[in-house]
Amino acid sequence: MSYRLGGGEEQGSSRGAGGGGGQRQYHQHQHQHQQSQNQQGNRQQQKQQTQIQTSHEPFIDTHCHLDIIFERTRHSGSFQDFIEKNSYPGNFEGAISVFCDPSAFSPSLRIWRDLLAEDKVYGSFGIHPHNAKYYTDILEKQIEETMAHPKTVAWGECGLDYHYNNSPHDVQQKVFARQILQAVKFKKALVVHSRDAEEDTLKIMRANCPKDLKVHLHCHGGSEQFTRAMMNEFPNLFFGFTGALTFSNSPQRKLVQNIIPSERLLVETDGPYMAPVPYRGSTAHPKMVQSILSAMADLKGLPIDEMYRIVRKNTKTVYGI
Ligand SMILES: [Zn+2]
Ligand SMILES: [Zn+2]
Repeated sequence: MSYRLGGGEEQGSSRGAGGGGGQRQYHQHQHQHQQSQNQQGNRQQQKQQTQIQTSHEPFIDTHCHLDIIFERTRHSGSFQDFIEKNSYPGNFEGAISVFCDPSAFSPSLRIWRDLLAEDKVYGSFGIHPHNAKYYTDILEKQIEETMAHPKTVAWGECGLDYHYNNSPHDVQQKVFARQILQAVKFKKALVVHSRDAEEDTLKIMRANCPKDLKVHLHCHGGSEQFTRAMMNEFPNLFFGFTGALTFSNSPQRKLVQNIIPSERLLVETDGPYMAPVPYRGSTAHPKMVQSILSAMADLKGLPIDEMYRIVRKNTKTVYGI
């Protein structure tokens, strides 16, 4: 909460959506997709994977929430301070910080601007399906302002989440369709969140998404059928894998091993959520994508350096960085 709020008041400003109180009145999106079901067996994983393979090749965390990571770790300095405090390796090239909570766009809040002003930080902006009910024309205008920033690389995360049902389904669907068109309008990549909503995700994307749009389907954990449909219908769609890939019993492992080619893979911590083995239970942050890359290389049977190079190239293809 205390991270460099910059000038201006935090409270009482015109908010454009929802209105009222503090900075985090909205549903914080939760991505604990597999956490409970993967609690068991973790002891065994810790044994298996305490040794992760690392590389000197450059890497980027393509999806995290730096503001929430800072809150959770009570970090009040810059990202550079955070990097130093957590001994990031020299080949860490950056992180895409995703802002998808309406409060992030209040004109008086400078958190995203302060973060993007730093070296190695890029931004993606949109409204999470949990908060779809707060989507208004005014809020949309505020998000549009972020698109002009030279380090803005994407619109999102947006999509459908029928697991928590924090916004009605029909509202989620309308707001998702509208945000796809915004990504197209601003020529940005689209970051999609889809949980327990495969059929409708496909339907809305088919109806609104140009075939060649750059899409990052983040925190992917979908069915084999959904994975194949997305992969075949959208040639510039990439699948983002989180720390869940490092859990020995996770269904994601099969998707990476057997279905999705390396040329369509991205790595993301989705920090502060989904910390990979061997960091289970702690706050995930960008450096931990190394664990995901290590698991990915094992699953693909590729040398670790090559895995880093392929994923880095995919990141450039989607985000231009
Ligand atoms: Zn998400
Ligand atoms: Zn996220």
